[in-house]
Amino acid sequence: MKKILLLLSFGFFFALAAKAQTVYSSDQGEKYHTADCRMSGDAKDMTLASAKKAGKKACDICKPDELGKAKLNRCEGKTKDGTRCKRMTGNKTKKCFQHTTT
Ligand SMILES: [Zn+2]
Ligand SMILES: [Zn+2]
Repeated sequence: MKKILLLLSFGFFFALAAKAQTVYSSDQGEKYHTADCRMSGDAKDMTLASAKKAGKKACDICKPDELGKAKLNRCEGKTKDGTRCKRMTGNKTKKCFQHTTT
C-alpha cells in the first residue's frame, strides 16, 4: 500500500513539473529571462524552479516572474533548418525576439 502512495505522489510531482514555467538563462548568467528578452542571448531554457535553485535572479527588464500571468504563444517563426521555433512568446506578433523583424 505504501508503494502505491509513493507512486501517486511521484505522479503528482511530475504533473507539477510539466506545468512549470520556462525561463531562459545561460550557464554563467546571474539572471533568468523570458524568451522575448533581448538580454537572454544564447540562453538555454530551464524551469523557473531550477533557475531559482541555481541562485539566479529575475531579470529587471523582462520580469520573468510576471510571465506566468501573460498569455503565451509558441513562436511562429522558423529556425534555419526549417523546423518551427520552440520559444514561447507573449508578443502580439506571435514571434519571439529572434524572429521579430523591425
Ligand atoms: Zn531579461
Ligand atoms: Zn522564434
